[in-house]
Amino acid sequence: MKERVALTAAASYDRAAIEAALERLLTPLGGLAAFVRPGARVLLKPNMLAGKAPDQAVTTHPEVVRAVILQVQRAGGIVSVGDSPGVGTPRQVAQRCGILDVINETGAHFAPFAKSVPVAIAAGTFHHLELARDILDAEVVINLPKLKTHQMMGMTCGVKNLFGAVVGMRKPQLHLQAGTDKAFFALMLLELAEQIRPALTIVDAVTGMEGDGPGSGDPVQIGALLAGSNPLAVDSVAIALTGLRPETVWTQQIARRRHLPGSSLDEVEILGAELATLRIPRFRPAKSTDVNFGLPPFLSRPLRRTLTARPVVDRKRCRACGLCVKHCPPAAMLIRDGRLHIDEHACIRCFCCQELCPHAALETHQGALLRLQAFLARE
Ligand code: SF4
Ligand code: SF4
Repeated sequence: MKERVALTAAASYDRAAIEAALERLLTPLGGLAAFVRPGARVLLKPNMLAGKAPDQAVTTHPEVVRAVILQVQRAGGIVSVGDSPGVGTPRQVAQRCGILDVINETGAHFAPFAKSVPVAIAAGTFHHLELARDILDAEVVINLPKLKTHQMMGMTCGVKNLFGAVVGMRKPQLHLQAGTDKAFFALMLLELAEQIRPALTIVDAVTGMEGDGPGSGDPVQIGALLAGSNPLAVDSVAIALTGLRPETVWTQQIARRRHLPGSSLDEVEILGAELATLRIPRFRPAKSTDVNFGLPPFLSRPLRRTLTARPVVDRKRCRACGLCVKHCPPAAMLIRDGRLHIDEHACIRCFCCQELCPHAALETHQGALLRLQAFLARE
C-alpha cells in the first residue's frame, strides 16, 4: 500500500487562511481527530533553530503552530510545544520566534526539553541516543518542520526536524561521532525518526528557505502545507515540490538505498492538491559540500580542499562573539587577538557554525572540483 501524503495551497500566514488550509489539508487523512483521542498528551515539535523573527523563515511560523494547537484542543488533546534549539535557551528562542506568545494565548504548555533520557537503539548506528523526556513522555508526537535547505544534509524537513529531540550539547557530540561521514549521520537521523515515530508530520512550506539554509538562507514563497504520518514520504513530496534532486538530500539518498517505505515518490499517494500546481520553479539549493567519488580515506584526505567545501569567515560580519567556537563539535575554532580562526584540518565540515551564527558571518567556499561540478551542472 502506498504512503499517503496530503498537500494543499496556503498563500499566506493570515490567521483565518492558515486555519482553513489546515482543515483542508487534514480532511483527506481523516482530520486531526484520527490521530488524537480525547485526553491524550500531545507534543508539538516545531523547528525552533534560533531566536529569529518569523519572516526570516528560520523557524516554523507561529500561525501554523497556533492552528495546529487549536485543532488538537478541539480533538480533546492536551497540548505541549517544545524543541531544543541550536543556540540560546528554548524559552528565549520560543519568545523571539513568536511561538511562546501563541502557547500562552492558546493555553497550551511550554515543554522546555530540559531533561534527557538514554534510549537504546536496537542494531542502530549508535547504541543509544539521549532524547528529550518531554518527547518520550508524550502519547502523541506531531512533527511541525519548516521546509528549508540544509548545508550539510541538503534539506531539512520531516526527518531532519526530529534531530531537535536530542537535547542541547548532545547534538555536537553526535556530529563529532559521525565526523565527515554524512551517510552515517543521515542514517542516525533515520533511526531517530523511526524511534520517535511521530503520529503526524505537518510541514510549514508557506514560506520556505533556499540557498544557505538552515540558518542564513533566503526566504522563498512556496505556498503549501503538507501532512502525512510517514516523515520520509512527506519529505519525498517536499523534494518534488522544490525540484531538488533526491540524491542531494542525504536522508533520502540513504533511505532509498535501504528501500525504506516512502523514500521514493512512486510509493506515495498524494491527496488534495495536484503536485504540479504547487511546484516552484528555480528553487535555489544549498551549495554542494562534497564530491563523492568513493575514494578511500588515504586518498580523499589529502585531496580534501579540492573535494569538499569548507566554512570561511566573513571578516566584515564576524563580531568575534565566540558562539560558534562554543558549539564546534571537534573544537576546530578559536578566537585569538579578537579574530576567529578555523583549523581546516580539524574541521569535520558539519556546518554547525554556519547554522548557528547570528550574524551570517560564515560562508561556504567550495573546492575546485565542486566548483567545476556546479559549472558543468549549469551547462
Ligand atoms: S562567526 Fe558568527 S558566531 Fe562565530 S564568532 Fe563570528 S559572529 Fe560569532
Ligand atoms: S568549523 Fe564549523 S564546519 Fe568545521 S567542524 Fe567546526 S562547526 Fe563544523
